[in-house]
Amino acid sequence: MTQHELRDGAPVYGNYINGQFVPTASGETFEVRNPADRDEIVAHMAKGTADDVNSAIEAAEEAFKSWSRTGALQRANILYKAADLLVQRANEIGRDLTREEGKTIKEGIGETLRAANIMRYYAGETLQSNGDVYPSANPTTMLYSIREPLGVVGMITPWNFPIAIPVWKVAPALAFGNTIVFKPASAAPLCTMHMVQALEDAGLPAGVVNVVTGPAGAVGDAIVNDPRVVAISFTGSADVGGHIRALAAARGAKVQLELGGKNPAIVLADADMQHAAQQVMAGAMNATGQKCTATSRAIVDRRIASDFTAMLQERISKLVVGDPLDEATQMGPLIDDASADRVVREIEAARQSGAEFVMGGERPEALAGGAFITPSLFTNVTSDSRMGQEEFFGPLLGVIPVDDMDEAIAVANSVKYGLSASIFTSDLGTAMRFVREIHAGMVHVNSETAGAEYQLPFGGYKASSSYSREQGKAAVEFYTQTKTVFMDPPTPA
Ligand code: NAP
Repeated sequence: MTQHELRDGAPVYGNYINGQFVPTASGETFEVRNPADRDEIVAHMAKGTADDVNSAIEAAEEAFKSWSRTGALQRANILYKAADLLVQRANEIGRDLTREEGKTIKEGIGETLRAANIMRYYAGETLQSNGDVYPSANPTTMLYSIREPLGVVGMITPWNFPIAIPVWKVAPALAFGNTIVFKPASAAPLCTMHMVQALEDAGLPAGVVNVVTGPAGAVGDAIVNDPRVVAISFTGSADVGGHIRALAAARGAKVQLELGGKNPAIVLADADMQHAAQQVMAGAMNATGQKCTATSRAIVDRRIASDFTAMLQERISKLVVGDPLDEATQMGPLIDDASADRVVREIEAARQSGAEFVMGGERPEALAGGAFITPSLFTNVTSDSRMGQEEFFGPLLGVIPVDDMDEAIAVANSVKYGLSASIFTSDLGTAMRFVREIHAGMVHVNSETAGAEYQLPFGGYKASSSYSREQGKAAVEFYTQTKTVFMDPPTPA
């Protein structure tokens, strides 16, 4: 394993280019700070430049020549071994994940183990069929299609799943023979380095994965604009996604976008209310509400809205907010103070606009060293308000009372996003109607809106994805292109 120089007790990382951690061309670094304790520097990362991106692309182009021809079993074995290393290092990586991102240590270790499982899934995928055989109009012609890698793929990721999201892009890209230039989010880039270290230690050849850290504009745009990068996989906010879509489309690059959500949970009067309250709370508050699939709207039958709100309040008020490295903590900080202040401002605005404040939204004095905020609940939220429409990306839930299922569906579908949605009901027909009528890429019946399994397509309708899907078979579609082959005998029979 590479030993990194320490500065102020924190490791100093270069960019990872052509199998080496190398200082950036600028010579500059930036600090990654612990959102639970802003005095703690977690790592010093390279402040990458367009020149670094150029070196990374050159390395990836060169490595593609041999990686794309490497046997499937060899690719699989590297991914299996890297997965084993992630499992062996799960406590260390999970701890670093918690220190850079702020989710609880249980969530941090759990995410690392999930990343290992994603690697194993795609290791298995390398040995699946990569084409089809077809009958031909001509009986002596053999017709078939084969899936081939694309080339150099650019990847840009958000901070909220610092190891799972990098792995769910990198593992399929590698499994199908591509090489990579990767930019992680500046707020939480350390876990990406743990991922590349595990791949290197598992035997991944130099240049196959390259990581450039640093400013979104300089590094991100240099990746997205370079014609040698044939495809872009981006996860992040809708605004940045729109910018990347425009750049990629302008030069004809293949692009995959996974963006925001404003995910509804419909709770009907015939639901198991205790179960629904527990699930809706988990969907809204786990990972401090910073999931693209988090529940941010509880659309509740008016007849039970008051009782259901009281159940939510009871549960939310018991959540233990504090140091995410403490095993007893159930909710850590937000990613940074700017995010916590933004959520406080949204809460204030919601109060002014007439939504009924129930609880939360305080920056606790005892936790003043970090970006902490108490989980917040509103009721009598109107669907057309900001709280009914905008992604706040924090521990903030609004109850929207509705008269019936027609109104519930209309409200659920009234936002620009369509990532994930839930319904809680004991009526099969109602559940089936929900599945038919909801505009969302992922739907849950009687479970919370968050939750992904890597064998399934992941992605949303409308502004949540722009028709992209990741994971499962969708990853094969994105990370390969099809070649159709007409094979005839040298001499016609
Ligand atoms: P973000 O601000 O959009 O940033 C995402 C990534 O894009 C970061 O690496 C960022 O770099 C980079 N970036 C920013 N501006 C760029 C530019 N002009 N060109 C190229 N790259 C640029 O999102 P975030 O705050 O990290 O993450 C939260 C968002 O991600 C939420 O909206 C959430 O819903 C969404 N998300 C979606 C999914 C999904 O699968 N649908 C999953 C997780 C999160 P810097 O960090 O250096 O600014």
